[in-house]
Amino acid sequence: MASEASASVVQLQTQDGVLVVTIANPPVNALGAAVRQGLLAAMQEAESRADVQAVLIVGAGKAFIGGADIREFGKPRVPPSLPEVCERIESSAKIVIAAIHGAALGGGLEVALSAHYRLALPAALLGLPEVNLGLLPGSGGTQRAPRLMGVKAATEMMLSGKHLSAKAALAAGLVDQLAEGTDPVAAGLAYTKQLLASQAPTRPISASAGRLADKAAAHAGLEALRAATTKSARGLFSPMKIIDCVNAAIDLPFDQGMAFEREQFLACVDSPQRAGLVHAFFAEREVVKIPEAKAAAPRAFASIAVIGGGTMGAGITVSVLDAGLPVTMIERDAESIARGRAHVEKVYDGLIAKGRLSAEAKAAIMARYTGSIHYDDIAGADLVIEAVFEDLEVKKAVFKELDRVCKPGAVVATNTSYLDIDAIAAATSRPQDVIGLHFFSPANIMKLLEIVVPSQVSADVVATAFELAKKLKKVPVRAGVCDGFIGNRILAVYKQAADYLMEDGASPYEIDAAVRDFGFAMGPFQVTDLAGGDIGWATRKRRAATRDPQARYVEIADRICENGWFGQKTGRGFYLYPQGARIGQPDPEVLAIVDAERAKKGVTPRAFSGEEIMRRYMAAMVNEGAKVVEEGIALRPLDVDVTFISGYGFPRFRGGPMKYADMVGLPKILADIQEFAKEDALFWKPAPLLQKLVAEGRNFDSLNQASAQA
Ligand code: NAD
Repeated sequence: MASEASASVVQLQTQDGVLVVTIANPPVNALGAAVRQGLLAAMQEAESRADVQAVLIVGAGKAFIGGADIREFGKPRVPPSLPEVCERIESSAKIVIAAIHGAALGGGLEVALSAHYRLALPAALLGLPEVNLGLLPGSGGTQRAPRLMGVKAATEMMLSGKHLSAKAALAAGLVDQLAEGTDPVAAGLAYTKQLLASQAPTRPISASAGRLADKAAAHAGLEALRAATTKSARGLFSPMKIIDCVNAAIDLPFDQGMAFEREQFLACVDSPQRAGLVHAFFAEREVVKIPEAKAAAPRAFASIAVIGGGTMGAGITVSVLDAGLPVTMIERDAESIARGRAHVEKVYDGLIAKGRLSAEAKAAIMARYTGSIHYDDIAGADLVIEAVFEDLEVKKAVFKELDRVCKPGAVVATNTSYLDIDAIAAATSRPQDVIGLHFFSPANIMKLLEIVVPSQVSADVVATAFELAKKLKKVPVRAGVCDGFIGNRILAVYKQAADYLMEDGASPYEIDAAVRDFGFAMGPFQVTDLAGGDIGWATRKRRAATRDPQARYVEIADRICENGWFGQKTGRGFYLYPQGARIGQPDPEVLAIVDAERAKKGVTPRAFSGEEIMRRYMAAMVNEGAKVVEEGIALRPLDVDVTFISGYGFPRFRGGPMKYADMVGLPKILADIQEFAKEDALFWKPAPLLQKLVAEGRNFDSLNQASAQA
């Protein structure tokens, strides 16, 4: 018998001998326990009733079934399990049809795969995105999808987590038939009647090898994917388990394959990577919960101006154009604005060359672009983003000009990386409208947008910035004003830890390798070479006068810059880039410079293991992260995590630096810092917040939880 809860989320109705099973669990018909119970009860009813010849499963509202119920994550499992429900559907003696008119994702697609026939309507989206949460499809998806679609299409779908459209699903063999319209009941009934009229049989996927029948070909296809994935998903757990499950689908009878899938699924559930990925998933949802969003509604923005058409100005312009908004770009003179436009066009020409954009589409996008050298042309703009040189006096002059021309109520933002936004705001008569929008390079690609909140800005301007981030499909993080905000401030500290390691005995190549092995896309010296060594050099020179004379200072990077070795753009930096190569080679001359600097300082180099390199690198990152949280620069530890995952190549599967620290254990991190402090107490000063949490037996996540409940 269905319980009351399951009866309301799974509704039954009989029409012309067809039991129509409607899943109605808003917003996305997630597969909570009540839905699973309701589906099982529906199948029992279908079997027990002589007047029912077929079962049609549909979703109410916009989705078929959106997937697992995220509210059940981490809680004890309530029966029936989804594999059990799927098995029951598949073994039905009456034909079962799934009519999919919206999202059929994860467990939702696994339900559809256990039906005997699948019909897709135009807005259907089908996919198995479990990999994004460190899992694999654990309700038969790894066994049924390859039988139906073949090894390549099925495995690629599971490894990428990407969705297929109705048409793509038909081409891949994932669905049997397409139908027009938006009503799954009408289309599903029509299809079911056809099947009944032709006496279509029940057709359990598990009953045959399907497209895995040619075992040798299936294995060859899978091994090619295994080789590619070993490279591309370096160190990731669940993608390799997905491949192992497909291997089992090829070799083992269905039941044994299912048992194998269950074992691998549970191994994924237990893996620390899953904990990291789930944290990242929830943190990205939490990060938009900021006090200003509760306090004020965003201002409307329909037209955007960008000041400066250099690296960042052009990237920001592309990002805004891609979101469908018009942009006016302002530059200093005719030559600079021509260059600014060329920077923008170059991005679209690159897409055309790769076949990802047509010339007509580019023309349509560029029709929304206006270039100008007259500030008066942006008098009507709702939102202005400044991206001129990183120089306070230049920026103040630009903001005075913006104050003169912008209409009242326009939001005026700066993309500064380090400068004091309160000082920039003070150059205007409207500090309540001035905010920081810190994009990352390349601005049209990088997801992170630090929204920097100066002291006088009004809440609706902050809310507007978050709204803009949504429109641009960015991941916004609220940050307070300080030197470098959240990301660059913490970066400066762990970069210093890397410099100390280098001077003490680890080569830049060993450090980069350890950081990559940890899961970062690149090591710190590779990043320097990519960004251009001259940028950091200029900052160091600017700060030389104010540097604490007691603080340890490593000069190796300065020596390298003095040779004009600025990284990729000059063909050498910490690495050599012969003939414009993008992957650098170790440079013996750099190692000689490192040795000379060590000798000059009287340092006897010692060996560091990769593990020790990472202990120091991460301790520096976490300690500064704790200070950033304590000072209110980041609202919560999770804001630091999202900043690093979205903007600094931090491995998502580790959940961000603060989650990593929680998983290692804060007492261990603090003990490391205290040990390193014996060498350099000035640099390794434990954050008071870290000490406090350790003393109280708490972790960083307890602060996230407290904030969510506040
Ligand atoms: P850039 O040198 O490539 O471009 C700056 C542009 O501003 C130039 O084209 C210049 O002609 C123009 N400009 C200067 N004064 C102007 C004025 N008065 N009116 C109009 N245009 C003017 O510099 P960039 O790398 O694009 O950096 C721009 C800003 O973005 C800086 O504040 C920088 O700190 C910040 N930022 C840079 C990065 C990065 O990785 N490059 C990342 C985040 C933020």
